[in-house]
Amino acid sequence: MRRTLYKHLPGVDMERIDKAVAYASEKHKDQKRKDGSPYIIHPLAVAEVVAEMGLDLEAVLAALLHDCIEDTDASFDEIARLFGQTTAEMVEGVTKLTRANFDSTEQAQMENLRKMFMAMSKDIRVVLIKIADRLHNMRTMQYQTPAKQIKKCRETMDVYAPLAHRLGMQKIKWELEDIALRYLDPADYEDIMSHLTARKEHDEAFMQAIGEKITERLSGAGIQSKTYGRIKHVYSIYRKMQQQGKTLDELYDIYAFRVVVDTIPDCYNVLGHIHDLFNLVPGRFKDYISTPKPNMYQSLHTTVIGRQGIPFEVQIRTWEMHETAEYGIAAHWKYKQGGEGGNEKDFEWVRRLLESQQDTDAEDYVNSLKIDMFDDEVFVFTPKGKIVSLPAGSTPIDFAYAIHSGVGNSLTGAKINNRICNIDTTLSNGDIVEIITSKSAKGPSRDWLNICKSNQARTKIKQWFKKEKREENIVYGRASFEAEMRRAGLPLSITIDPEVSPQLLKKLSFDSWENMYAAIGYGGLTAVKAIGRIRDDINRAVKAQSNEKQQQQNPLRTHPDSEAVKRNRHAVNGVIVEDIESCMIKFAKCCAPVPGDAITGFITKGFGVSVHRADCPNAAHRDEPIQAARWVRVRWANMDDQPFETTLELDCITRDGLLLDVATVMTTNRIRVKELNGKDLPDGHSVFTVRFEVKDVAELDSIRNKLLNIRDVVGSRRGQN
Ligand code: MN
Repeated sequence: MRRTLYKHLPGVDMERIDKAVAYASEKHKDQKRKDGSPYIIHPLAVAEVVAEMGLDLEAVLAALLHDCIEDTDASFDEIARLFGQTTAEMVEGVTKLTRANFDSTEQAQMENLRKMFMAMSKDIRVVLIKIADRLHNMRTMQYQTPAKQIKKCRETMDVYAPLAHRLGMQKIKWELEDIALRYLDPADYEDIMSHLTARKEHDEAFMQAIGEKITERLSGAGIQSKTYGRIKHVYSIYRKMQQQGKTLDELYDIYAFRVVVDTIPDCYNVLGHIHDLFNLVPGRFKDYISTPKPNMYQSLHTTVIGRQGIPFEVQIRTWEMHETAEYGIAAHWKYKQGGEGGNEKDFEWVRRLLESQQDTDAEDYVNSLKIDMFDDEVFVFTPKGKIVSLPAGSTPIDFAYAIHSGVGNSLTGAKINNRICNIDTTLSNGDIVEIITSKSAKGPSRDWLNICKSNQARTKIKQWFKKEKREENIVYGRASFEAEMRRAGLPLSITIDPEVSPQLLKKLSFDSWENMYAAIGYGGLTAVKAIGRIRDDINRAVKAQSNEKQQQQNPLRTHPDSEAVKRNRHAVNGVIVEDIESCMIKFAKCCAPVPGDAITGFITKGFGVSVHRADCPNAAHRDEPIQAARWVRVRWANMDDQPFETTLELDCITRDGLLLDVATVMTTNRIRVKELNGKDLPDGHSVFTVRFEVKDVAELDSIRNKLLNIRDVVGSRRGQN
């Protein structure tokens, strides 16, 4: 066997091959093949096929070592050290493909598998080694159990033969198909074989006569050529019988002749002679020399009828084309010796080849197989070897939800290739992904919606929030809506304006603001979208109200403020509205002023005056003409002890016990807390929201300073109530 390797690799360093053979023999020394022979027979045979394909030394070494990582204690690093990085990477690539457990017979899995093969194998040599591996395993299939035979043969038909075809490796494809058929449909296989045996003499005599006739004619014409006659391979006969519903004897065109010559002009010359010698079957001539098949196949094809009335196909090609037809991509795959991997241009060419969908030869077994590089997909494995296809850029979160929403919802961590990783790690082709779950997991985090790439994951996460977290959704959705309103410069008070609110809700298709906030909270609707739907209505309402107000308020404006007037004002909720005798007062939710804050008032239709902090963004445009009429001056009345509610948001570095520390500060200062909750951010930070009551701004500042003194609280801001 080693001699074959030497023969196919002239001029390479045989010591490296010997070293790899010795290494693999040692590693596999305790293993036996199913037939009882030493295991090393297998890698040697695979290496031989790989060498025969015409691949380089590195690929042959990888073939010799291809089962070492999977089946022995050999490691990637050891192989890289002894045989080089490229070889080690190829062995690893083959190992990944081997680990995929293709139990599933679902068509979808097969399609994925074919795609994954290509996508995973940055190095096409990995696929070629895997095909060689499969070829040898098929050749020794008789030692497997019947169940395994069926499984492996099915897989060969579904995956390996189409791949070999796509890569232009006709010879290997035929052999794979014929062996597979033998196990998948033994009765028909035997039937065809016995028929072929029975008519063997006749067939051989026929082929010899035709062959001689062609050779005689061509040498008479001075053309150097070699003619081979053959019966088409069993599986193609089987398929023709099935498709045409005919017996073997009724079958038309099972003979194929091949005339191999030195030059392309010779090919066309030969064609002329063939058409002169025999009767041409119209419509069967194909010129794959001027228009090669996507898998690089080149030949002239014609079908003719001899004197006995038996049709046969003649394929005319040069020796170079012959090599390509037999070994396909391998014959053309030139690697820079000593360089790392294939060169970029070749790779592009392979990519184009594989992407090509058109296959002009309807005769050929195409089965609408489409393999392209699937840049937009990534293929990974479950620990059990099931393939999962995800959008490129997917993370363990996407993976978890692709498995089952229950897995996603209880995800607490992930392992990629047995190493703990962040759940936002981008997955690569061939990764084995394991999801760590916990029954006590709190469910998905909202940040996951931004991390995940697949719609499936996003939808399932949203569903979870919709179902599990209505209260939280409302809070979150409301904050998001209000922030967006502020950004858009729209008055928040409009949502509680009894005249405008129902109309807005109708536009939004919700029956209450809470429901709408909840929808934003679980991600069913974005705040931007919601506001987009009602923006025009709000602006119209604001304009209408401001006109009305101008009419009502103008008389008052003629009286300038005076101390006397001020003093007579009634304080409502601790606030005095100047210019207006008595009206309802409420504190704007957007900025939640407390006594001591500089404030301003906004006249809302039907709800009196809403009091904002002077620095509230919603009050920023109060001097603009369109709004000015609705803004009024307000001030705090003398302090009473009535508490005011306010909210602080604390920026923290996440740590255990922080919530307790915050709570402790509040209780020891006798602050009445209405709400206290924390939300983790992805980068080890978290935000605590504390809603509580204070007497005034001084108390607020004091408590704020105490909170800022807590370790790991790094910032604070006034939030919305
Ligand atoms: Mn193997």
